[in-house]
Amino acid sequence: MAVPVSQMWAVASYVLKQKILRRKRYATVLMLEPLLRCNLACAGCGKIQYPAHILKKEMEVSDALKAVEECGAPIISIPGGEPLMYSKIGQLVKELVKRKKYIYLCTNALLLKQRLEEGVFEPSKYLTFNIHMDGDREAHDFAVCREGTYEKAEEAIKLAVSQGYRVCTNTTLFSHVNPENTRKFFSRMMELGVEGLTMSPGYSYQKAPDQQNFLNREKTFTLFRDLLKDPEPEWKFNQSPLFMEFLMGKLHLECTPWGNPCYTLFGWQKPCYLLQEGYTDSWEELINDTAWENYGRASGNSKCQNCMVHCGYEPTAVHQTFNSMKGFWRTMMATLNGVNSRRGRDITPPVVGKRIETGAEAKVSDDVVGKLHRAVDYRGDVTVTLHDGQVLEGFVFNVEDGAIDFFPAKQAEAQVIQVSAIANVDFTGRNFADGASWEAWVKKYNEQKARREAGEKVEAIGIFSEPL
Ligand code: SF4
Ligand code: SF4
Repeated sequence: MAVPVSQMWAVASYVLKQKILRRKRYATVLMLEPLLRCNLACAGCGKIQYPAHILKKEMEVSDALKAVEECGAPIISIPGGEPLMYSKIGQLVKELVKRKKYIYLCTNALLLKQRLEEGVFEPSKYLTFNIHMDGDREAHDFAVCREGTYEKAEEAIKLAVSQGYRVCTNTTLFSHVNPENTRKFFSRMMELGVEGLTMSPGYSYQKAPDQQNFLNREKTFTLFRDLLKDPEPEWKFNQSPLFMEFLMGKLHLECTPWGNPCYTLFGWQKPCYLLQEGYTDSWEELINDTAWENYGRASGNSKCQNCMVHCGYEPTAVHQTFNSMKGFWRTMMATLNGVNSRRGRDITPPVVGKRIETGAEAKVSDDVVGKLHRAVDYRGDVTVTLHDGQVLEGFVFNVEDGAIDFFPAKQAEAQVIQVSAIANVDFTGRNFADGASWEAWVKKYNEQKARREAGEKVEAIGIFSEPL
């Protein structure tokens, strides 16, 4: 069994408490994103495509802790961006350990050795490094668009394990995965001494550069059945057995989007970790003001139809385990017998939203409203012209209640601007989510690979990184 008993008990007692309090919606894992900057630019990532002034921002520890208190989840997952680039990561982890929260620090491990040598962390049963490893050497380096990353991550895993840290791996799978190689990779990770493996199909982020290799539901079922048939005895998975049965198409689950909510630099993200359909200032607003019926596969929402990602379905699996005898029994059987058993910096706090003074307002045109909604999806700066003649350049991250939330390009503080004050919106900045950079990179990668295979000495390449 991969997860320590104390952690299982913390989750079980928390879920039972929610049941006693008759809470219909509660979170088991809080996804806390203290920054959106990363030292990689993976092809399937829909998180890092922002202009430089957004990527430079970091969350204040006090705001992160407020979010932790508000939501109450026993487990805190810290993704990003790359959390080891967060300047206050040591302080944040210390505070969370003090509060007896179980932390999964999700990292690509490129900086892990350095942070361990700096003494930023101390081993604790509350702290797990969840290392992003998308398969064996070739699969991982290709998925993260940088050669040499697998080797660095392996080295960091060995070091962290030898120093007594809890270490897990987190594998996102795409359609180009080779099941046999991935099975060997699982065994290799266990050999390195990791506590458990986690995996999930990649979500088809509209903003991710590579749109070709996301898995649909049918392909997900086939891949996970291939991966998990006759599992090796040494494999340990650090996720709910019911979720794994779901990935193999053996169990139907519906999404619980509020179960793993995301608190980010912009606030509480609606409705889930994957979609960005607005932000709220508080957990209570997120729970009470989100139209939950519009999300999940059953809602018919096209963005949810192929989603089988852990953040939506693990909480459903946990809920089923503790809320019905059938779910509990099924979990016990899968745990005992295996899931495939025939038996069954410009650093500012998150948005406070200072209202910008506008002199003139006018009737809102449909054209402007349409452009503003497109601007939320656009991963670059726009130029907003107000009726009073002011011209503002920056990033629009929310449109709600007749106003936009806006990070100006050259100021640290977020602003709120009435839609009625806006005369026009121009898409002037570079869209960091366009596919052109990715296609150019794949072309170059394949050329370099062919030259290397032909015996030529060619330097390793990484996908573009915008200088900050
Ligand atoms: S490691 Fe890759 S997937 Fe993770 S945040 Fe960085 S770019 Fe995105
Ligand atoms: S199905 Fe996926 S994308 Fe849709 S709400 Fe659930 S987690 Fe989010």
